[in-house]
Amino acid sequence: MVEPASFDLIVVGSGAAGLSAALRAADLGASVGVFTAGALLAGSSPRAQGGVAAAVGADDTASQHAQDTLQVGAGLNDVRAVSVLTSEASRSVGALRDVFARDLGLEAGHARRRILHAGGGATGQVLSSALLERALAHPHIALFDHTPVTDVLLAQGRATGVFAEHHAYGGNAIVLATGGYAALWARSTNAPETRGNGLWLAWRAGAGLADLEFVQFHPTALSIPGKPSLLLSEALRGEGALLLDERNQAFVDPLLPRDVLARALHRHLSAGHKAYLSLQHLPPETVEHHFANLAGAVRDASGLDLARDPLPVAPAAHYCMGGIRTDIWGRTDVPGLYAAGETACSGAQGANRLASNSLLECLVFGARTAEAALRDAPDAAATWTTHSLPEVAPNLAAETVIAAMDPVALGQQLDADLGVERNAAGLQRLAARLPDPNSAPSADLLIASVAARAALLRRESRGAHFRTDFPNPTSTWRGRIHWRRGPTLRPVFEEVSP
Ligand SMILES: Cc1cc2nc3c(=O)[nH]c(=O)nc-3n(C[C@H](O)[C@H](O)[C@H](O)COP(=O)(O)OP(=O)(O)OC[C@H]3O[C@@H](n4cnc5c(N)ncnc54)[C@H](O)[C@@H]3O)c2cc1C
Repeated sequence: MVEPASFDLIVVGSGAAGLSAALRAADLGASVGVFTAGALLAGSSPRAQGGVAAAVGADDTASQHAQDTLQVGAGLNDVRAVSVLTSEASRSVGALRDVFARDLGLEAGHARRRILHAGGGATGQVLSSALLERALAHPHIALFDHTPVTDVLLAQGRATGVFAEHHAYGGNAIVLATGGYAALWARSTNAPETRGNGLWLAWRAGAGLADLEFVQFHPTALSIPGKPSLLLSEALRGEGALLLDERNQAFVDPLLPRDVLARALHRHLSAGHKAYLSLQHLPPETVEHHFANLAGAVRDASGLDLARDPLPVAPAAHYCMGGIRTDIWGRTDVPGLYAAGETACSGAQGANRLASNSLLECLVFGARTAEAALRDAPDAAATWTTHSLPEVAPNLAAETVIAAMDPVALGQQLDADLGVERNAAGLQRLAARLPDPNSAPSADLLIASVAARAALLRRESRGAHFRTDFPNPTSTWRGRIHWRRGPTLRPVFEEVSP
């Protein structure tokens, strides 16, 4: 019988966060096993188009970057996490300087030019390939592709390894870097496999989840029935793309902030109108020159011509601010279990993510999580000051609870009831159909159930969470709702300090 392999650090996921964690740990001399569910380059990281934010320009500072991040985060950021994100940005991207183009881009919400980019809109692909190349060449890193982790192993309440493909693998510490859960929605810009697997692993190991109601919807995703919801980036609107209705009339300012534009498009479409992104008024050679990669992707996905055809668009689930609750060192509340990247909720992104801050979070928090995981005492774990919620959990036993749901049907229900705009009636209907999180039989139903319950409890609008019946933020709800598996479902509330 072959002895199961054992590592100083096990990393689950080979996106930007997982590879950053693996490389930092290996550089510190640790043996690292990286397990990934599919191909080594999969998930969201290779899909990123825009770039990585970092205050590296001569006119820029980390504190200006922090201010912009807090502005968009709508009062829910953890200020220490934002400070880590923005002050460590320059060092993180410095180590990858050869990967990025020399000039800095500007994106909505950023007061300065600070977007590092590569490959003419293929930043994620170029960055992921560079990280992977380094990991493959590192003598301390073993990569296991097509090896989904199905369980975190525990001994006396501490994470001690993982179970994958019929084998147990030991690890002194485990980092979950499994990406977000936005592909649960039927209309999503994410790869189909990005369905919150790591949250399910963490939940069953006893770790807490937070902020699951905060999902960012991208306003302009290609919307053709049966075709993928390809992201049509802000850069197109920045170059002058218009948003036209069925009469070829411009109906909204294409440069509105992401969440405001998503809501405007949602209302326009819900009223029975059509929405098209159009670059027809621009010289075709300009469009082809600036957006060669995207033009090819649009052609492949739909057969349409980016320069000449009006492109039908609709908002689509894009990025998850919520996830496995961690402190600023990636610690969860289970000793030995850590999380980084989009699967984690460190509080850096608040109630809404500033564009290009998520790849940065992967680089910065991936590396520091690995440092903490190697350095921590065996019983180290995160703790938070929480209190019981001011609201009574609603009675959800009214309708038939389902035990399983076809992913397409679930996605459509999430689009309808937990989409760009929410209200009590839709959320109540959705939550009543989903099992209590404690008895959820799958990642899909766990996440949908927690997110629906959290959105129902949060009777306010803040950041990416918009309730038509409570359209304003309230100070009562300035904090995050934590969920943990237990004998009864008792979400607790963590106030966020101003
Ligand atoms: C279309 C698109 C464009 C974007 N553009 C930008 C941008 O310009 N700038 C920016 O900052 N952000 C952007 N984002 C967001 C950003 O790409 C993601 O937040 C980030 O890449 C997440 O990286 P990650 O390492 O956390 O997860 P991912 O890159 O999603 O990687 C997750 C990994 O976990 C693995 N995995 C999952 N479950 C398991 C399991 N059970 N066992 C083993 N492995 C598992 C997957 O196979 C994968 O390797 C974009 C996202 C999308 C979808």
